[in-house]
Amino acid sequence: MEVLLASKNKNKIAEIKTLLSECVSDINVLSLDDINYNDEIEETGTTFEENAKIKAKVGADLGYICIADDSGLAVDALGGAPGVYSARYSGYHADDETNNTKLLSELQGVPDEKRTARYVCVIACIFPDGKEIIVKDTCEGKILTEYRGNGGFGYDPLFFVDKFGKTFAELSMQEKNTESHRGKAMRRFCQEFFRVLKGE
Ligand code: IMP
Repeated sequence: MEVLLASKNKNKIAEIKTLLSECVSDINVLSLDDINYNDEIEETGTTFEENAKIKAKVGADLGYICIADDSGLAVDALGGAPGVYSARYSGYHADDETNNTKLLSELQGVPDEKRTARYVCVIACIFPDGKEIIVKDTCEGKILTEYRGNGGFGYDPLFFVDKFGKTFAELSMQEKNTESHRGKAMRRFCQEFFRVLKGE
């Protein structure tokens, strides 16, 4: 079976490919680069659900079973920001470093117990015939005052998870996937995906 992943984020693609191959055997996962899709997909939604669907629809309209992830970080002390704007938190030319710098500065002076946050992940899958699967999951953590670890991507060096006593950037991809928003959403997705494939 072939599916298209509507993403250009290499870290997300690697995580999702690993997660999908754990639950669906014989799956060929293409990325937008693999099909030479070079247009920018405008994420005009105001929720993770809307943006995930916008991205999945692009691939479904091209005739693929298309999976898209929209995800981000919601920090309680910032009223849920950066939320759907996580990738572009520090502006149009944002990257992980400038986003993390902004996050630390916005949280300056916020005490440890108020630095609670969660990663959110919505996965949308749209089939060429219009069938849809939408699942969501989260992972609770807190934002440290300094970076720890070199793995992962995005806000991972600042995102501390009690269960591990480590940031996501201090974990292997396999460890991160056991608890991460994307890992949990993907496992939920796989159950739904099988149901749709079986015609239930
Ligand atoms: P999207 O590609 O529009 O869904 O943006 C997702 C953004 O949320 C990323 O660019 C990161 O800033 C952040 N993000 C989502 N998931 C993760 C994760 O697993 N680790 C770190 N940052 C993440």
